[in-house]
Amino acid sequence: MIRIPFLRAMSAARDSTSARPAVVVGGWYTGHVAAIPSSTEEQNVTTSSDVQDVKIAEPLVSEVFYTIQGEGPSTGRPALFIRLGGCNLHCKWCDTPYTWVYNERNAERHHAGVMYDPQEELRRVSGQNLVRRILREFPIEGLVVISGGEPMLQQEAIARIVAELRSQPWYGNVEIETAGTILPSHEILNRKIHWNVSPKLSHSGNELELRYNRPALQVLAEDHANFKFVVRHDTIDNRDADLAEISAIVSDIGIPKSKTWIMPLGTSPVEVLQGGEALVESVMERKWNLTLRTHTLLWGNERGH
Ligand code: SF4
Repeated sequence: MIRIPFLRAMSAARDSTSARPAVVVGGWYTGHVAAIPSSTEEQNVTTSSDVQDVKIAEPLVSEVFYTIQGEGPSTGRPALFIRLGGCNLHCKWCDTPYTWVYNERNAERHHAGVMYDPQEELRRVSGQNLVRRILREFPIEGLVVISGGEPMLQQEAIARIVAELRSQPWYGNVEIETAGTILPSHEILNRKIHWNVSPKLSHSGNELELRYNRPALQVLAEDHANFKFVVRHDTIDNRDADLAEISAIVSDIGIPKSKTWIMPLGTSPVEVLQGGEALVESVMERKWNLTLRTHTLLWGNERGH
């Protein structure tokens, strides 16, 4: 077992993370409630005429925040996150239940058992406004991450937003974080998007027919995609069962080793670090990649990061 003592010391210090107030960074708000641009803000935005004329579908948004990408190959890059609402799955350990736990049935499926109010959590935000603000306030070679929930439930709106960005002098990257259960349209595949696909395993609590869409995964694998799998590490049996399930998926879809990422299950710094320790050797043996959750190490499970 490889030991990482300084990380363990850090995890102990971080485990009692306290809530912080929302702050404004470069005009973007961090913190989930203030994060959603209000209609007043939309009216106040100064626009360029070329953007103003374009009609863009209005996505249903949970939060918009500026942070760093905490997972996968872009780890550490400053990123604007646009978290869309709604999900077609019901992972029992989901760390963003406020995007989909809106009825009693889903509350029973999620480990916390808490039901959220979509009137409080979600808002229609002008896609046009999102594009304007990215162009105005975000670096021309920045990173925009569209996450969820399951953002591919709104792929038409995403495709139009990205099309508009691509028609502007903005040369940043767009990453979409998806569970890979929804077949991407030709329109969105033409947008030079990087996919962070996270197929869900049996421990998520989702039925196989709901969580495993082979044609969709194959289409994504042929595009610019990395695949990230959440793995349990509480027992050796659970860890090995999850790694075996991943091997079967990787083989079935034909995912290259270089694009296979393993991430420990956990929503606290201690869990993530212990998971990293428990998984690193298995990952190295298979020539896969290990990703921790940098935002969790830094901010715990706070919203807006
Ligand atoms: S797919 Fe993602 S957002 Fe949906 S329930 Fe699972 S972890 Fe949560």
